[in-house]
Amino acid sequence: MSQQSSSWLGKAWSSWCSVPLWLQILVGMLLGMLTGIILGEQAVVLKPVGTLFVNTIKMLIVPLVFCSLIVGVTSMQDTAKMGRIGFKSFVFYLGTTSIAIALGLGVGELLQPGAGLNMTPDAGAAAAKEVPSVMQTLINIVPTNPVAALASGQILQVIVFAVALGIALVLIGERGQPAVKMFESLAEAMYKLTDMVMKLAPYGVFGLMAWVAGAYGMDMLAPLIKVIIAVYLGCFLHVVGFYSLLLSLVAKLNPLQFFKGVRSALAVAYTTSSSAGTLPVSMKCANESLGVNKKISSFVLPLGTTINMDGTALYQGVTALFVAQAFGIDLTWVDYVTIILTATLASIGTAGVPGAGLVMLTLVLTTVGLPLEGVAIIAGIDRILDMARTVVNVSGDLVATTIIAKSEDELNVEHYNADEEQSQLLAEKLNAES
Ligand code: ASP
Repeated sequence: MSQQSSSWLGKAWSSWCSVPLWLQILVGMLLGMLTGIILGEQAVVLKPVGTLFVNTIKMLIVPLVFCSLIVGVTSMQDTAKMGRIGFKSFVFYLGTTSIAIALGLGVGELLQPGAGLNMTPDAGAAAAKEVPSVMQTLINIVPTNPVAALASGQILQVIVFAVALGIALVLIGERGQPAVKMFESLAEAMYKLTDMVMKLAPYGVFGLMAWVAGAYGMDMLAPLIKVIIAVYLGCFLHVVGFYSLLLSLVAKLNPLQFFKGVRSALAVAYTTSSSAGTLPVSMKCANESLGVNKKISSFVLPLGTTINMDGTALYQGVTALFVAQAFGIDLTWVDYVTIILTATLASIGTAGVPGAGLVMLTLVLTTVGLPLEGVAIIAGIDRILDMARTVVNVSGDLVATTIIAKSEDELNVEHYNADEEQSQLLAEKLNAES
């Protein structure tokens, strides 16, 4: 390579590096989509780039949640406050989830995505997958072996153990300090590692987007385009309408600032379809862009990632109606209430990984007696629906964290309202102090 072209490349690279991360991710997404459309199914060769990125962020989840949760609990000292925050999170999460399904049912009624398909159930065409019962989910939250829970990435179990260990460390006072210091230092290292991994996001997102756009050409989408429109419309209304209302009415915060602060988390959620995988990025956005105290985000966010699935619930509302309409089955109001209750409870047991919502759909369909072939039809386009519902899931966790932090006086409102430059400076100051 000539010296001139290598210096040109060097300059181009350094100007690319000075572009803000969220913009780099957006460019990666658009270029990925374009590449996928051009290459078609061959774009699958780019999938490993995306998978590598997903694996790298997944690598952070367990140690990040474990260490930062212990630090969150030990820094809180006040156990009554922790109980209060836990209660608020639970009520908030379940309340918004039931509203999400009701909205999904409303959009499904309005757009009638399954009308005119005239399908007939074919017995035994799609077998139900194993889904855990609600009771089983509740019993399983206490790990019999915390090391196994850490090793297998059972986040809800990890949360329970970390909170218990944190409380014990507070109760033994001075004698707990060496361990507390160790977890503080490990948590810091995990935040730094998240920073480093996020630098790879634009390339990972490029690979994932190219693969999705290449795999789902227009031919496959056409007959189901109404379901896609219904799910995307419902997700849009829930995030932009409902969450904005909550932020401005309940917390008296400007929703625009919120969306500006969380855009990189939403881009990662959209392309990876995994709210658990997005957790490290959500934590970074909550602390460094929104000004949420780590004490709150390290507890409310991991909890939300495991039990709060507004997007998944909304999607189940729309798709249950789609299946009923496609097979010409009339639903009664009892069926509607059953769908709301089942999907709300099922959302607690849904893992924040790609495709988990589809498995839970079998539970919802079975409860109201709808044909399971519906799952097979939806499966063909599920990734596209998964991308949108994961954005809603992650937004919901971040909205809850912000509102709860504000109510506990743990939100730095000046930081929340800061412009990009100020926010970066405040984040650097925060990192230097901690
Ligand atoms: N992919 C979703 C998430 O990670 C779960 C789902 O499949 O609905 O939040």
